[in-house]
Amino acid sequence: MKDSIFLKIFLNFFIIILLLALFVFAFSFRVVKNHYIKTLVSDLKNLAITLSPEVLSFVEKERFKSLDDFVKRLGSETDTRITIVSVKGRVFADSKKDPALMENHRNRPEIIDALKNGFGYSIRFSKTVKKEMLYVAIPLKKSGKVIAFVRVSLFLRDINRLLDKLKGRLLFIVVAISLLALIFAFLVSKNLSKPIVELAKETEKIAEGNFNVKIDIKRDDEIGLLGKNFVEMAEKLKVLFNDLKLKQQELSNIISSLSEAIVVLDIEDCILFFNKAFRTFFGNVRKGDKIYQYIRSHTFLNLIDEAKKGSTTLKEIVIKGKPFLCSIAIVDENREYIVVLRDISEFKNLEKIKKDFVSNASHELRTPLTAIKGYLETLEDEVSEQGRTFLDIVRRNTDRLTNIVNDLLTLSGIEDRGIEERVDVNLTSILKNVVFLFKQRAEEKGLSLEFKNRIESDAFIKGDPFKLEQAFINLVDNAIKYTDKGKVDVLLEKVERGFLVKVSDTGIGIPEKSIERIFERFYVVDKSRSKSMGGTGLGLSIVKHIVMLHNGDIKVNSKLQEGSSFSVFLPEK
Ligand code: ADP
Repeated sequence: MKDSIFLKIFLNFFIIILLLALFVFAFSFRVVKNHYIKTLVSDLKNLAITLSPEVLSFVEKERFKSLDDFVKRLGSETDTRITIVSVKGRVFADSKKDPALMENHRNRPEIIDALKNGFGYSIRFSKTVKKEMLYVAIPLKKSGKVIAFVRVSLFLRDINRLLDKLKGRLLFIVVAISLLALIFAFLVSKNLSKPIVELAKETEKIAEGNFNVKIDIKRDDEIGLLGKNFVEMAEKLKVLFNDLKLKQQELSNIISSLSEAIVVLDIEDCILFFNKAFRTFFGNVRKGDKIYQYIRSHTFLNLIDEAKKGSTTLKEIVIKGKPFLCSIAIVDENREYIVVLRDISEFKNLEKIKKDFVSNASHELRTPLTAIKGYLETLEDEVSEQGRTFLDIVRRNTDRLTNIVNDLLTLSGIEDRGIEERVDVNLTSILKNVVFLFKQRAEEKGLSLEFKNRIESDAFIKGDPFKLEQAFINLVDNAIKYTDKGKVDVLLEKVERGFLVKVSDTGIGIPEKSIERIFERFYVVDKSRSKSMGGTGLGLSIVKHIVMLHNGDIKVNSKLQEGSSFSVFLPEK
């Protein structure tokens, strides 16, 4: 490992010990040196004081030659330099040199201090002996008056030699202590880093998915607690991980046992995951492949685009000739999306059987109904007044049945065949025609029926003119049927990418809860009213189908007792 924790701790200790050692060494040497010089100064001062009476007597008697001999002898005995200086600075005697040759000493710092304070000392270079020296001077007084100075000095070389020895010893002590400290630091670093290194190794195991950690840290401090907590955490993680694995397994079992084909795609449309049903249907599927390699439907591509814009989409699509209900939903914050395909072939078959049955039954009913109607008309002239009332009831019910059969046949015709051929349709003339057809019926009911054309030239769209006419007939028929007073308006206007036809009335309106159901087959709001008007509950369902066939859209706005408005949007192309 490049940066080991042990090295880091030890290196820090090492630097601290080194700096401390240097500081202790420098500081203690300075203290010892100062103390040593102070002691020397005091020794030299005592020597000078001891010499004072003898020297004073020589000076008083002006026996300078004897004084010089005396200091020379004493100087060599005490291994110091002794100088006697007059109050004016003249050297009377000196243990190292001939006083006659020596310059005036009046301005020497120790002499100046001695005169001023009664004692002076200095460390400086001696011009006389050309060496560095330590000087100590005291004044000699007669009747309270300074008459000379006794100066005792030592060669600094000797002091330094002593100090060097001391330095060596100090260095040895500091190095020895530092070494001991380093050994201690080494042990402390090892002791601190060992459990951390052990912990690090165990975490690596966890990172690799192995939760069987063994940590043996027998300590009462925070590191011990860390180790204990870590072991506990690993155990909990192990339980959680196993739980998660189990749940994942369960989930994947559920997903793979689903009959719906499920595939998860990334935002680039590459396959990230698919279940067994998806593979069964699409064969050899590989993760990472683009989904278009397997599903080449145009509707599917549009659905994916819509899903990417954020909406959950659900639509019928045909893949390899089979119908599927396809739902696409974005998951994971727009980074993945899930496609669920449900095979609806069986459902479609059933629906077809149902539709075929309705269509066949309606067909079969049509002939006998026509026959019944014919005979009813013949019978009408043959029966009595009372019989005619009964015949009237039979005729109304036969008409209702015929209406239902016709509506059912229209509906199944639209569902089965759709629009066989799209031609140019003049929407304006269809609407005019429908309004014209109902004009009389509206007037009979006391209603105004108007076509409000908001387009200057005729509106043309592509489609089936008969089916469109049927749709508007149904809408206007309803409007008149469910309006007792007021008016019915048919409005045509141009809107973006198509035309809008609004059939509005001032009739009874539709309750809010029924609005979303009125396009269902056979749904009627008020059964008795619808029946009495000859309604079948199929009219709006036919309208919706026709509008959808033209890629249009129908919306309703209604308020009870105020009226309803059906808006049909039809695209231009
Ligand atoms: P019906 O043959 O009964 O009219 P529809 O499918 O045409 O069947 O309409 C379904 C129901 O919607 C009707 O029973 C009626 O209650 C309601 N409805 C349709 N058009 C209107 C309208 N213009 N005003 C009020 N109710 C309406």
